[in-house]
Amino acid sequence: MSRTAIISDIHANYHALSAVAADMYAMQCTDIVCLGDVVGYNAYPGECLDCVRNWNCPVVKGNHDEEVVSPSQARMNKVARQAMDWTRNQLDAERLKWLSSLQYQRIVRSDNGVSYTIVHSSLDHPKAWNYIINADDATSIFPRQFSNICFHGHTHVPKIFFWNGRHAVEDYDTISALYTDGYTEFQPQTGLKYFINAGSVGQPRDNDPRACYAIYDTDLNLIIIKRVEYDIGSAQDAILAQGLPEYLAERLASGV
Ligand code: ZN
Repeated sequence: MSRTAIISDIHANYHALSAVAADMYAMQCTDIVCLGDVVGYNAYPGECLDCVRNWNCPVVKGNHDEEVVSPSQARMNKVARQAMDWTRNQLDAERLKWLSSLQYQRIVRSDNGVSYTIVHSSLDHPKAWNYIINADDATSIFPRQFSNICFHGHTHVPKIFFWNGRHAVEDYDTISALYTDGYTEFQPQTGLKYFINAGSVGQPRDNDPRACYAIYDTDLNLIIIKRVEYDIGSAQDAILAQGLPEYLAERLASGV
């Protein structure tokens, strides 16, 4: 059996990560991949980094993972930068070195030989940290996608795009089930390319505060996206206890 949990944008939210970890074991996942932004915003960067590192799974670099190691001062808003400066002080040289060693994109091969791509933001300019929000944005991705399936994160909003041979199309119907049922699944069609946003574990921004992650079952040719309840109050308390910006605690409750 080859069933991989696809987790993205953990953002140092250990309460959310723990809940997702329990869920992915309950869902009988055999493997894990991580789409980056392990740190930033929330109160447990070291714990989340160690957890992902101990899984020894494929991981790609996110913009927060890069920023904490190589501050650019340009790209981030004030709140994000405050959290980033705090985060940098929480991580020792060895952990920073691990973050800096991450690649921008990777090909993952599952146990049954199915290959797919993982990237944090986009395939045409992975280091530019573009946000792929709609089908127009996604149209520039597909000429650079050489596998049928690519998973990404970065916007913190779960989405499914596919290539119809001429342009990208957004699959609203499959995602809409996620908002009614907290769960959706689909079978990718042979010959079509898909660019799939797995949502965010640690800071969802689609007005649903529950943690979000995806599962790719390559035996069943099945992709699942689902939500997981977690202890938001404790994650908020930890943010405030560390003196991080209050807004970072508030936004967790509303999922923005
Ligand atoms: Zn992020």
